[in-house]
Amino acid sequence: MEKKKFEVPVIQVVKPGMPGKTGMGQGYAPIKDIEGIPVSSLIEKYGSPFFIISENKLRETYRKAYQAFSSRYPKVQFAWSYKTNYINAVCRVFHQEGAWAEVVSGFEYDKALFNEVPGNQIIFNGPMKSENELTKSIENQSVIHIDHFDELIDLIRLSDSLKKKARVAIRINMDTGIFPKWDRFGFNFENGEAWKAIEFIMQSEFLDLVGLHTHIGTYILSTEAYRIAAQKMSGIAMDIHNSYGHSIQYLDLGGGFASANTLKGAYHAAADVVPSFDAYADAITSAILQQNWPGGDPPYLILETGRALVDEAGYLLSRVSATKRLSDGRRALILDVGINMLFTSFWYELEVHPGFDTTQSTDETDIVGPLCMNIDVIRKNLKYPLLEPGDPVVIPRVGAYNMTQWMQFITFRPAIYLIDENQEVHMIRKEENLEYMQELEQVPEHLKK
Ligand SMILES: *Cc1c(COP(=O)(O)O)cnc(C)c1O
Repeated sequence: MEKKKFEVPVIQVVKPGMPGKTGMGQGYAPIKDIEGIPVSSLIEKYGSPFFIISENKLRETYRKAYQAFSSRYPKVQFAWSYKTNYINAVCRVFHQEGAWAEVVSGFEYDKALFNEVPGNQIIFNGPMKSENELTKSIENQSVIHIDHFDELIDLIRLSDSLKKKARVAIRINMDTGIFPKWDRFGFNFENGEAWKAIEFIMQSEFLDLVGLHTHIGTYILSTEAYRIAAQKMSGIAMDIHNSYGHSIQYLDLGGGFASANTLKGAYHAAADVVPSFDAYADAITSAILQQNWPGGDPPYLILETGRALVDEAGYLLSRVSATKRLSDGRRALILDVGINMLFTSFWYELEVHPGFDTTQSTDETDIVGPLCMNIDVIRKNLKYPLLEPGDPVVIPRVGAYNMTQWMQFITFRPAIYLIDENQEVHMIRKEENLEYMQELEQVPEHLKK
């Protein structure tokens, strides 16, 4: 029998923090493998830290979401939100599953082309598109989601000079009961601005209004908000039909479905409050299908779901590099990866799971990163098992936004791996190195020795 490890006994002062519905934050059950491969052997082989993404999970989640909508609605199209995770291998999994690309910059647009997305399957969103980018989009017959009147006027001028009609939609913001209201992007519905933009477009011979777009926010827990959005969007489409005899081809309800991470300070754990794809789909499709669509033919429904498709598939593997006591007696675990690689730790209570079976005793613990910065705290006040330097930990649900919003700061960004459906592990982005970091820098002659 293996000898039990000795752990130093600790005397604990009970300090109440912010309890949730199930009491104080607890440590987490171990995650000992990723898709059947032991965490210990992954770390042995690939070092630490690194991100690892499950292809299985990506495809499974996508299919679940697609099924939720396509079983309720005849014409469904997903467009992968590049900014949520634009690592090429991840994008290509979604494109293989049938998703178009939804991009918000020229850089993302070119990435979608690189990933072999046909031009007419790229949706170009965002508040800033340069003349070159607009020209390229018109030539490729991508759909341009217009954000404001200046862009609208630019587009008319460019299409005129290219002698090519631009395929456009407008982004519409509206009151769906969500607070704070997202009214920064697109044209407002309630004050009539959206309708003004539609009139403008309908009178132009250079623009083809193919769709209507809204993106009501992110991590939206209310299916009712989507029902209201779908109702308003359908109403606008019907008004366009009645006023101009013009049928728009699609309604794009954007992204925003919540993933299973728990928000900081939330009273309920995410698992108890996050709606299923079925619940979101039911709210949206039933509202659209209530309309009396001309010819009984409703428009396509496009979804730009980001975080809810990819968050669950991403893990960050890390190791404890040191442990120490803070001045008030709490323990601190210093991981070899910090918040600059975990942008979502600013709003999520990320779960840090031991990568192995721990003993039962716990201590009040802060989990921090290696940066020489006071804000580098991943979790505070957890009842956590007594880990030691070298022990592996797994942070699940980091697939969304971390690999795009990560910040090169003090350390290199770590490598990213993909576990495919045959449990084969592929490196999909190398760890950064000094050469890569310095490639863009230049030292003026007079500073060279
Ligand atoms: C960010 C974004 C998305 C994806 O949002 P999620 O909340 O990650 O689902 C979709 N559409 C637009 C326009 C966006 O800006």
